[in-house]
Amino acid sequence: MTGYDSKARHNTPLARKLKDDIIRHGPMDIPTYMRACLLDPDYGYYRASTAIGKGGDFITAPEISQVFGELIGLWSVIVWKQMGEPAPFNLIELGPGRGTLMSDALRAAGVAGDFLSAADICMVEINTTLRRIQEYTLRNATDGCVMLRWFDCIEELQEADGKHKPVILIGNEFLDTLPPTQFVRCGSKWHWRQVSIDQDDALQFSPSIAPIASEFPELSQDLEAVFPGADVDTVVSRTSFNGLTDRILGWDNVAALMIDYGDTSSMRGDCLQAVRNHTYEHPLTSPGEADLSALVDFHELEKCIQRTAKDRLVIDGPVIQAEFLGSLGIMERASHLMARNPDKAAQIEAGVARLMSPQGMGTRFKAIGVRSKELPILPGFA
Ligand code: SAH
Repeated sequence: MTGYDSKARHNTPLARKLKDDIIRHGPMDIPTYMRACLLDPDYGYYRASTAIGKGGDFITAPEISQVFGELIGLWSVIVWKQMGEPAPFNLIELGPGRGTLMSDALRAAGVAGDFLSAADICMVEINTTLRRIQEYTLRNATDGCVMLRWFDCIEELQEADGKHKPVILIGNEFLDTLPPTQFVRCGSKWHWRQVSIDQDDALQFSPSIAPIASEFPELSQDLEAVFPGADVDTVVSRTSFNGLTDRILGWDNVAALMIDYGDTSSMRGDCLQAVRNHTYEHPLTSPGEADLSALVDFHELEKCIQRTAKDRLVIDGPVIQAEFLGSLGIMERASHLMARNPDKAAQIEAGVARLMSPQGMGTRFKAIGVRSKELPILPGFA
């Protein structure tokens, strides 16, 4: 993530809006900054941009190979059988991008005809342009044979359906949109990391004036215990996953699969990452015009589920993506596809190699399963 100009600042419309805000109300915390970058109603990246895919800012696994979505479709069929073939049930996707994953998944799941007729497909998507692309892709892929609904957020879906309907939930590169809080070490104390304005009227990261200890002594002690004697300027990130357990996984009968890039140890260092036109840049360079995401702290996610929901939810994994896809039979599926489409064999092989790469996506991405206590271990995690 090096090689970019860390001083570059573009005066985007959102940068101007945020600076006005900082002048009025003082420095802003990192979650406020990140939420604005992604979701500001006028200039947020995910309100306007449709920049996923080869021609956009970044590419995701389902856009690299159809095998990815197909395996998730087969995964969903096995889970549905483990659940006792409930009908109807909600098949929910969080942040479905261009709809490619769901369309590949439904095609593969078509081998189990009963699954498709039992499934109510629920797409949770905030971006109206992406919604239209998803709708077009899915209507074409399913010939109008399945029930399709769109929601802005999970609360809206829970309001419509209650919490009792069984749920299979999928999210690829959704967790990385959840904003972390960041802390920075100054002298012998931990401070909040904030966004403020420097003397050249540019956005900068800076520590809060008051140390954390003056207001939250326990948090400060906790940071000290996990990162004892950390060097000055050490940045630590922590994402709160409480909303995930309360709301996103707040169903009576649920099996969820989340795949994302991230770490399984507590996070030292700056987990924020900005990507524009397939190139990394500094997270403050072009607010609202670059995809801003946060490396997922799977360790913190596990701790949160243990702390808040261990009486009803069980975690499987995390395992690296290569292991997860390997155990679902990606190699067999790819060989089968290559044999049937010899003219596309090289392309299929290259796509699968990219998803499985030991130096790249295969290890950087992890899969985690979360399920209601009553369900058996989810496929791919044995
Ligand atoms: N899963 C897709 C896209 C990942 S990008 C893929 O693998 O290709 C993140 C997706 O989440 C986008 O579709 C974005 O519009 C959506 N999104 C981001 N924040 C959201 C939020 N708070 N609520 C609903 N959707 C959101």
